[in-house]
Amino acid sequence: MQFKSTRGNEQTSFKEALFQGLAPDGGLYQPVTEPDLRSAIRSISRTTKFSEVAEIMTAALFPDEFDPDEAGAICRAAFPFSPELRVVDENRSILELFHGPSCAFKDFGASFLATVMESHLAEGNRKAIVLTATSGDTGSAVAQAFHGKNNIEVAILYPSGRVSPLQEQQLTTVGGNVTALEVSGSFDDCQRMVKEAFVDPALSRELNLTSANSINVGRLIPQSFYYIWALAQLKDQRKDRRNDGLVFCVPSGNFGNLTAGILAWRWGMPVNRFIAATNANDVVPEYLTTGTYRPRPSVRTPANAMDVGDPSNFERLRKIFADQNLEMGSMITGHAVSDDEIYRTMRFWYEDHGLMVCPHTAAGLMASEHALKGEPAGTGMVVTLSTAHPAKFVEVAEEAVGVRPEIPRRLARVLDLPKVSVPVTPSLESLRSVLLERYR
Ligand SMILES: *Cc1c(COP(=O)(O)O)cnc(C)c1O
Repeated sequence: MQFKSTRGNEQTSFKEALFQGLAPDGGLYQPVTEPDLRSAIRSISRTTKFSEVAEIMTAALFPDEFDPDEAGAICRAAFPFSPELRVVDENRSILELFHGPSCAFKDFGASFLATVMESHLAEGNRKAIVLTATSGDTGSAVAQAFHGKNNIEVAILYPSGRVSPLQEQQLTTVGGNVTALEVSGSFDDCQRMVKEAFVDPALSRELNLTSANSINVGRLIPQSFYYIWALAQLKDQRKDRRNDGLVFCVPSGNFGNLTAGILAWRWGMPVNRFIAATNANDVVPEYLTTGTYRPRPSVRTPANAMDVGDPSNFERLRKIFADQNLEMGSMITGHAVSDDEIYRTMRFWYEDHGLMVCPHTAAGLMASEHALKGEPAGTGMVVTLSTAHPAKFVEVAEEAVGVRPEIPRRLARVLDLPKVSVPVTPSLESLRSVLLERYR
């Protein structure tokens, strides 16, 4: 599979796109051709394990990059965990994506990326240093995914005192090849320092720096696999319905998850449409109705992993739909959910279904209900993606339902481990000297 930038026409290999992250012209990599995966998708049944779905898709998408054995080895290594589908009733189900190591859907993309990078580095006998900034959720998925990978060191910058205590424990207790850099500044400082490091001559001379952020195609593409897995799970249920398409509702911030669903659709996955659920940061729903894109500073909400005022993947979506909001709107319906609705939805699902959901999932469930009301009866099951475990957002959950969520063992475990971080001041000089000292 070849890639090209959303801003240019030069073709790039998967490997290059993987290690570069962002295209040199500042655009995002996009597949050049759209493979037809309909027969591969049809070959997947209810009993196909998620790692096998991933293997089938990887082999079909990357015939030039991986032979079938390699695709199998990569997917078995990357996915010891799986999504789970909770069917609520004949119109509703919830696709739980938080059963991986960091308890959020980002584990799927991060783990695939880490495994593929390790495999490429082993081939060339090279080393790489993954440098990434986090405001919370991304960092823990990256830390878990890259932990113990050969030939890779990971440095994660996070703003001191500005991530939740649980998130800080998740970042700072992994150890081994994962170093947490505690920056005495804001998340914006962390992002700026990472950007400066990538163009710093001294660092690029000495170190092979690479990134692992969410725009990387190595994270984007595997996120399409669970849509296809979910579709197969619901195959039997849909048999005798008039219209067998599904509607996927995706809680969205940077729109990577939704873009991956759109890719699956372009490759032949049958789907009626997508609902883009946002919190009060509603630039995309606004674009879909008005045709005007007005990026703006984000506002804080209880679903803070979706607090994005200028979604990075919007550029990809825009390109796919030829810059036409009506065309995008024929496949994606936007729906913004208020803070109050997020709290109320969490309470509703807890009281009426005995189900504790995270605030992001609640935004999705609220948007789904809205969509179901507008549907002619029996039109199609709405599958809402559940993006994180509620225990990652204890304070919000407690405020919404008055009960502390049960903490899964893999999260509880990190609470007792000793925190180890390297203090860094918010300047390139400080970052440079730490990186050179540790990795040169
Ligand atoms: C990152 C994240 C989102 C937003 O996903 P995008 O791909 O950026 O749209 C939603 N929910 C949770 C819990 C997240 O961590």
